[in-house]
Amino acid sequence: MFKSLGLGIILAILAFLLWNGINVWPAVLILGLVAALYYSGAWQRMMQNRRPRQVVVKASTPTNFDDIGGQTTAKKELREALDFIRYPERIAQLGIRPLKGILLTGPPGTGKTMLAKAAAEFTDSAFLSASGSEFVEMYAGVGAQRVRHLFAEARQMARRDNRTSAIIFIDEIEVMAGKRGQHQSHLEYDQTLNQLLVEMDGMSTDEDVRVLVMAATNRADLLDGALMRPGRFDRSVGVDLPDREGRLRILQLHTRNKPMDPDVDLTRVAQETFGFSGAHLESVCNEAAILALRDGTTSVNAKHLMEATDKVLLGEKLDRTLRDGELNRVAVHEGGHAIVAELVNPGSVSSVTISPRGMALGFVRQSPEDDRLLQTVSELTADIQVCLAGSTAERLILGEQSTGASNDFEKAWDIARRMVLSGLSSLGVIHEEALSPETLYRTIQEIIVAQQERVDSLIVRHQAILSHLAASLLAAETLTGQEVRGLLVDNQIIA
Ligand code: ATP
Repeated sequence: MFKSLGLGIILAILAFLLWNGINVWPAVLILGLVAALYYSGAWQRMMQNRRPRQVVVKASTPTNFDDIGGQTTAKKELREALDFIRYPERIAQLGIRPLKGILLTGPPGTGKTMLAKAAAEFTDSAFLSASGSEFVEMYAGVGAQRVRHLFAEARQMARRDNRTSAIIFIDEIEVMAGKRGQHQSHLEYDQTLNQLLVEMDGMSTDEDVRVLVMAATNRADLLDGALMRPGRFDRSVGVDLPDREGRLRILQLHTRNKPMDPDVDLTRVAQETFGFSGAHLESVCNEAAILALRDGTTSVNAKHLMEATDKVLLGEKLDRTLRDGELNRVAVHEGGHAIVAELVNPGSVSSVTISPRGMALGFVRQSPEDDRLLQTVSELTADIQVCLAGSTAERLILGEQSTGASNDFEKAWDIARRMVLSGLSSLGVIHEEALSPETLYRTIQEIIVAQQERVDSLIVRHQAILSHLAASLLAAETLTGQEVRGLLVDNQIIA
């Protein structure tokens, strides 16, 4: 009704002006343009973007520290820091200034969001979460408005729930709090970050609701220095990839609600999943249960877990059909990797397969006996030998190599380069800057050629068993590490 009334009034004014001989066509043109914008929806979208959109997502499921596997140090550090919220009187009595921000840094999927939720549960705080990207808009001032809104909402939510504290969790904080002056639309970015700093500076102990900001990032190096200065995020807690114990605990947590076959050895799975994050491990358990469902079994068995690990590591099995000759070549190639891996690193092969997954036509999954933080020369050269073994097997058994080894060569080259730069080559201790590309190239070559000779002699010596292993792979498609070792023991290659 208001629309028609407005339209009527505008038309009446225009008619009146026209009657009095005034040129109304420019005004008609402008009004026409505005109307076109309005009805195309662009106007509404523009206005909507300017409004302080709700960025708050309330935590749906409560999490506590016991639901988080591993991360012992992070949990301990966090619990200590949270005492600031739990015992405000003691903090005030000692004149300690409140802790305003805790930064969680670490790779994706390691449980940073879970830790923030658990912190809220531990301190009985209201919990709000938002992602750094939700604050970033092309319109100046919108991000800052959203930050103000977030803090106001946190306080309101705590009051509504009769709580005395609130935790605001900002994931991917580097998106909104990167170093200032570096973005193209830097005015908007800077205003958003400034507002966050203002809000954090304004936080004090004598408020009825104490607010703590927790933020997560895997690029702490990108953050603006002002954010990290004391009085803002003055605690930084590292949330790393879990070690073997941590992986075991996470696997136990995520298999709690799944029936497991007695043959399942989670310790073994934990050992074989070096480098996996908590999110990867959760996915392994879930995928294993899906495989059990597809198989029609009532519980998850070791084979399901093995296949699920491969799937999470490399992707879904592909329906790519290889020609017979190609399949044989893949079997010989992977067999070569597997045999050399067992010879230079006994017990390290977890599985060998020739079914294509992701980018790989086949692969050998190896798991170190222990999580390795440091590597010795012999461990590094053994790794190079395993990389070279696939192409060597192809050359010595099938008469020529193929393109399938380019990735292996890249890996071998990287390891050799690391050796040179760590002072483990014939050059001794060197500095990369003082090293000419030719010398670096020559030294890497020297290492690779020496290892290639060793691999050649290993494959020549074990050519018969390699052909046998390749045939078994062609028949079975996938062999476990135990099966490969069984074959080597039966043929008295290893004891
Ligand atoms: P991102 O950096 O990508 O936001 P994140 O570090 O915040 O990731 P979360 O979102 O906390 O990771 O974890 C994702 C999922 O992975 C969780 O829902 C949980 O299922 C699983 N997970 C990760 N870490 C652990 C852990 N330590 N214990 C148990 N489960 C975990």
